[in-house]
Amino acid sequence: MPYPVDETHDPKLESWIESANDPNSDFPIQNLPFVMFDDDTSSHPYVGVAIGDKVLNLHILDEQDFFGRENWEKIDFISSDLNGVAASDSTTRREIRSRLQGVLKAGGDDALRSARWANSALRNLADVRLCDPVLVRDYTDFYASIYHATNVGSMFRPDNPLLPNYKHIPIGYHGRASSIVPSGTPVRRPVGQQAPAEEGGTPGFGPCKMLDYEMEMGAIIARGNELGEPISMADAEDRILGVCILNDWSARDIQKWEYQPLGPFLAKSFASTVSPYIVTMEALAPFRCPAFERDAKDPRPLPYMDSEHNRAHGGIEITLEVYLASQQMRDKGMAPVRLSRGNFRDMYWTFAQMVAHHTVNGCNLQPGDLLGSGTVSGTTRESRGSLLELTWDGDPFANPPVLVPGTQRTPIKLPTGEERKFLQDGDEVIMKAYCEREGFRRIGFGECRGIITPARVVQ
Ligand code: CA
Repeated sequence: MPYPVDETHDPKLESWIESANDPNSDFPIQNLPFVMFDDDTSSHPYVGVAIGDKVLNLHILDEQDFFGRENWEKIDFISSDLNGVAASDSTTRREIRSRLQGVLKAGGDDALRSARWANSALRNLADVRLCDPVLVRDYTDFYASIYHATNVGSMFRPDNPLLPNYKHIPIGYHGRASSIVPSGTPVRRPVGQQAPAEEGGTPGFGPCKMLDYEMEMGAIIARGNELGEPISMADAEDRILGVCILNDWSARDIQKWEYQPLGPFLAKSFASTVSPYIVTMEALAPFRCPAFERDAKDPRPLPYMDSEHNRAHGGIEITLEVYLASQQMRDKGMAPVRLSRGNFRDMYWTFAQMVAHHTVNGCNLQPGDLLGSGTVSGTTRESRGSLLELTWDGDPFANPPVLVPGTQRTPIKLPTGEERKFLQDGDEVIMKAYCEREGFRRIGFGECRGIITPARVVQ
C-alpha cells in the first residue's frame, strides 16, 4: 500500500501552535499541506506548509540545516513553485512530513519553538500572499463522474446520455495551462460564438450568457515518466504529490457550439482556478475508500487500469461544497449561500486509473502537471457540482431522461431575492473541501474563490 496510515495520523497529536488544535481548522498537524507564498518584503516566493493559521517557511528551516538531510535529494525550497518538491522521491517527502511534525507537535522537539528565528519562519497566513502552487506545464481535464456525465449527456442526447466508451476509458481532454490562476484571481466573463437558438440557425456572438463553474479536485503529478514508458497501476499513486480544489469555469453556450467534434476549447480556456493548498497523498491516507463499485453489467477495467489496491483503496472520501455570494449579498454583509454538497468517493474512475490511462500510450507526465477529475456530482440534486445540473429539472435516471438544455430551468433563489440560472457579473463562487472520518482528525483543503468581472468585447 503506497500511503499507509501511520503515527503521523494519530488523532491525539496536537501542536504547540494553538490555532492548529481547533477542531474546525483545515490545517491541523495531521495535514501539513504545501503552499507557495510571498509577501511585500520578499523578492520571490517560498515553499511553505500550512499549520493552523500560520505558514511555516521551509527555506528558512533548510538554511538552518534543520532537515539534516545528508541522505536526501536536494530540494530547492526557495523557488517559484512546488515542482522541485514534486520531483523529489516519496521517501524524501515522507521524511519531510515526519520531521515537520516532530518540531510542530506539542511536547515534541523544541528546536523550532525555541529558535530565535522562529518568528520569521512562522508567519500568519493572513499576512502573506498565497501564489500559484505549481508551475503547470500541462493540464488534462477528465470527466470521471458517471453522474455528471449522465446528467450532461441527458441534456444533449436524451436517448443516449452515456457514450459507449465511457465505462471503458477515463474520458479527458488537453486543457490550457497558461490560464490556470490561484484562488482569489478575478475571472473575466468570456466572449465568443454561441450555439444558435434553434438547430440550423446562426450562432450568436458576445459575452457568455451561460457562465458556470465546475467543482472538481485536481491531482498534482509528482515524479513524471520518460516518454514511451507507461506508468503501471502499482506505481501510479506514488506519482501523485497531492490534491487541490479546481474550479473549471465553463461557458456553456460557447461549449455547446464548439464541442463537436474535438471537445472543449474556448469554453474552458479563459480561466481555471486552483486552491493554493496541496494536500499530500500522505495526509489523505486515513480517508481512502474503495473505488466506485461497478454495476455487475458494467465492463471490468482492463488489467492496465485494475489492481487489488485500487479496488479496495483507490477512492478518496472528500466532502465538497460550493457557495455563492452575489455582489448585492456582499454589499449587504450576507453570508455566502451553499449551492451543493457532494463527495469525491462517487467518482467512476480513480486518480490512479487516470494516471495509468494517460500514460499507457507512452505520453510523459511531468512534475507539477495537473489532472482535473471532472465535475464531481452524485446521485442527489444537492450533490450536483455545476449550475448546468443544479438548475436543471430533468431526471437523468428516468428512462428516457427528460428535458433539453436551456428550457424550463428552475432558478436558484438567493437570500436577496435575486435568482440565478447561471453566474452574473459580481458573483463570487467559493469552493471548500474537507475529509472527516471517525477516529481521525478532520483535515481541509482551504478555499478556491473567484469573482466574475464584466466581459471585454473586441470589435
Ligand atoms: Ca471539467
